[in-house]
Amino acid sequence: MEAAPTGQRSSHQSVEKGRSRHKIPRDVETDIAYLYEVLPQLSRIFRIIDKIGEGTFSTVYLAEAQMTDGSRRMFALKHLIPTSHPVRIAAELQCLTVAGGTENVMGVTYCFRKEHHVVIVMPYMEHQTFVDIVGSLSFEDVKHYIFHLLKALRHIHKFGIIHRDIKPTNFLFNQQRREYSLVDFGLAQGTPDTQIELLKVVKAKAHKGGGSSKMVEESLGKQKLVPLPPNTRNPAILSSTKAPAKRPCPPSRIKHSKELLGLDKAPRSVFGEKNINGTNSHKPGTDKVEGLLLKTKREEVIPRKIVSSKHRSVPVRTPLNQKPKAPAVSPMLTCNCFMTDRVCNICLSRKQQVAPRAGTPGFRAPEVLTKCPNQGTAIDMWSAGVILLSLLSGRYPFFKASDDLIALTQIMTIRGSRETKEAAKTFGKSIVCSRELPRLDLRILCETLRGLRSWDDASLPAEFQASRNPAEVKQDAGSPARKRMSSGSLRSIAELQEMGWDKAPDDVYDLLDKLLDLNPATRITASMALQHPLFKDMTV
Ligand code: ADP
Ligand code: MG
Ligand code: ZN
Repeated sequence: MEAAPTGQRSSHQSVEKGRSRHKIPRDVETDIAYLYEVLPQLSRIFRIIDKIGEGTFSTVYLAEAQMTDGSRRMFALKHLIPTSHPVRIAAELQCLTVAGGTENVMGVTYCFRKEHHVVIVMPYMEHQTFVDIVGSLSFEDVKHYIFHLLKALRHIHKFGIIHRDIKPTNFLFNQQRREYSLVDFGLAQGTPDTQIELLKVVKAKAHKGGGSSKMVEESLGKQKLVPLPPNTRNPAILSSTKAPAKRPCPPSRIKHSKELLGLDKAPRSVFGEKNINGTNSHKPGTDKVEGLLLKTKREEVIPRKIVSSKHRSVPVRTPLNQKPKAPAVSPMLTCNCFMTDRVCNICLSRKQQVAPRAGTPGFRAPEVLTKCPNQGTAIDMWSAGVILLSLLSGRYPFFKASDDLIALTQIMTIRGSRETKEAAKTFGKSIVCSRELPRLDLRILCETLRGLRSWDDASLPAEFQASRNPAEVKQDAGSPARKRMSSGSLRSIAELQEMGWDKAPDDVYDLLDKLLDLNPATRITASMALQHPLFKDMTV
């Protein structure tokens, strides 16, 4: 039996003690006070110490609780934004309760709710920020990291959970302890045969956001997931923390993208939007189909990169287990702009295709970027491939795109435009691209970005020159190869050899190739990947 939090902690002195120890900035202090105010029952159990994460949909705090056996334990409190859809919240909780707590998947300890405020309590896992460590990992570290990510994916996929937001900030990693944990089921969806009942309810309409507190009550109450303690206020805590007068809404939460903030530090990202020969401006009514590669006729017409399956001339594959859908546009309206770099008026008036598109652009699979309506667990495998690409090249974020078309162009730059077009055809999408981009050799690409190979030998396309570290470019002009420094982490060749990077086997690049398979139907699954020869010496 686990020791339970005692609920006896109500002294505001310990809150003050925690403060002086950690030097909490004022705005964090205000947010903590706000959390105690909206969920007063927390103050009976937890001493909230600090804010450890802030995203669009939640704020995560570090808290301490005294257990019944007298020991103290750390927890992560995830305060969901009050507008989160109740079904979404309940589904996130159900993923954690049903699939979590084992196989590198985060578990859940408790859940608190008062009105529309919900806090998910999880065991705290100390972890490093990916951008800080990606350049310092040895080959063995990388092998372990990807192995444990695959284990977590195999586990959730067994339950029919598609995570949909696989990225390093959602896979916590403790380098010293070699601990790993997959978090954040806030965007998860179910496969048709999912074992997570609430994921059957979560559809495109139940996005993060929207919903009444009555619905929260119903969805959470019905599932009996959350033993809610009685609503008790603790005036001592509230006054000690100088809580502001009741606020109608929480402090505004603006996403501070760690990925973006980390850009100034090594490792450098490979793609910046500047590397792509196009703009990112959005013309109203064009469904973001501005050209990224096309330069022709820009002035007269709106260039088009992606032509959706609405065009009759492209066969739309319908999965066997899915009823064929009525075509979105009457066949009578078929236009002749297909496979040209224009968008005609008929196409401009078409309805936007609705398909799940959650996640972060740089980690989205080609079928997600092209809005393929039939998406499965393979989308998580693609994201794992993007993480492995970062780990092998030492660059994070690898793809940096604010928009799906930029992301797709970056993918084509690595995986080839012809190959991408061919794969897209298999899931009923047609991609138009103004020039041919060759498929790159993944080993040469990663080793060059890491600094193991000379840029002059690699003959990488011009887009990559911008990702070279200026210091390295200077060095390259005249210094012998053995003295060259890695572009990502500015390490010497000798250091990289010590970290095992010169002996990385072909197997790892073969696995990368299979994860970054453009075709979701043939992309490697998590359980197949764990059987890959790369892991022959590891216990699956
Ligand atoms: P969001 O939906 O806002 O992205 P997450 O569940 O991904 O929320 O949590 C945001 C961040 O909070 C994570 O990237 C991680 O740094 C931290 N975090 C979340 N859960 C835990 C946990 N159990 N232990 C330690 N840190 C956590
Ligand atoms: Mg997250
Ligand atoms: Zn048209």
